[in-house]
Amino acid sequence: MTLAAHRGTALGTSMHVVVTDPDTLGRATSAVEDVVAAIDMACSRFRDDSELSRFQAGGGRHEGIVSPLLAQALATAMRAAELTDGAVDPTVGEAVRNAGYNVDFDALPAEGAPLQLTVSPIPGWRRVRLYPASRRVEIDAGVEVDLGATAKALAADLAARAALETMRGGGVLVSLGGDVSVAGDPPEDGWNIQIAEDSRAAITPDGETIAIQSGGVATSSTTVRRWRRGGVELHHIIDPSTGLPSAGPWRTVSVVAGTCVDANIAATAAIVRGAAAAAWLDQAGLPARLVDRSGRMTRVGGWPAPRAQTS
Ligand code: AMP
Ligand code: MG
Repeated sequence: MTLAAHRGTALGTSMHVVVTDPDTLGRATSAVEDVVAAIDMACSRFRDDSELSRFQAGGGRHEGIVSPLLAQALATAMRAAELTDGAVDPTVGEAVRNAGYNVDFDALPAEGAPLQLTVSPIPGWRRVRLYPASRRVEIDAGVEVDLGATAKALAADLAARAALETMRGGGVLVSLGGDVSVAGDPPEDGWNIQIAEDSRAAITPDGETIAIQSGGVATSSTTVRRWRRGGVELHHIIDPSTGLPSAGPWRTVSVVAGTCVDANIAATAAIVRGAAAAAWLDQAGLPARLVDRSGRMTRVGGWPAPRAQTS
C-alpha cells in the first residue's frame, strides 16, 4: 500500500497528514487545516484576537456564552482535570506566563534575566464553570485559563475525523507536533509511528517505532520547550501544586490511548505526577514509554519492547 503525506506547520509546531489513498490527500489536508485554524482562533493564548484571549481580557471575573468549539475545548480541559485530580489543569495560565513562557515558543528568548518565582498553587479548575447546555462560562477573578495541553490533541482528533469525512473509505493519520490521531481503515500493518522526544526528529530506520490501528498517541516532554532565566533551566509543564515547572523524574512520556486527547492527558499528567506515574499508567492499561532525566526508559501497560538493534 502506498501512503501519501503532506507536511506543514500549525499551532507553532509541525503538522503531518498521511492518507492510505493518495487521491484523498488534498481534501484531507484542507479539512485538517480548517480544523487547526478554527482551534487556533478559538483557543490560542498567543494571539490577542483568539476567542479565549478576548473572553478573559483584562482583570476581574469573566462570564458569557462561548462558541461551540471553545465550549468543547474547555469541556475537554475540565475533564482532563477531573480525570487526573488536577494534575492537568487549565488554570495554569498565570503560572506558565510567570515562568517566562509568554510568547509563541519560536519567539521565546533562550536566555534572559533572572525571574522571581513564587511557590504558590494554581487557582484550580473548580474556579472555572462551564454549563454545557447553554455554553455559558464563568471564570473567577484572578484565574487565567491556558488550553495548551489539551487543545492541540483535541485538534488532532477533530482533524482526523473531519479529514475522514472528506474521503470515501481508507484511513488518515494527523500529527500535530507529536500529538497523533488516526481515523478510518489503517494500513495493513497498522500506522507506524516513530517515537521521539522531539517531534522534529528525523525518521530513521533504527528509531523506535510502534504500530497502532486506531486511537491516538501523544508525547509530553520537558526537553524541547526549555529556556533559561538567570542561568536557571525552566520548562513548560507546570506542577499545579507549586505553580512552578514540574521537577519530577520523567523528562518525556509517550502514551497510546483510544483518542489523542486521552493519550495527551495521561502523558502530561505522568510528567506532573512523577515517580508514581509508571504504576498508575500500567494499572490504567495505558501503554506508555517514560524517559527519565538520564535518558533511561521504562515501558509499561503493554508498550511494545523495542526491536533488537541489528547493528
Ligand atoms: P503538553 O505538551 O501536552 O504536555 O502540554 C504542555 C502545555 O500545556 C504547556 O505549554 C502549557 O501551555 C500547558 N500546561 C503546562 N502545565 C500544565 C498542567 N499541569 N496542566 C495543564 N496544562 C499545562
Ligand atoms: Mg500535548
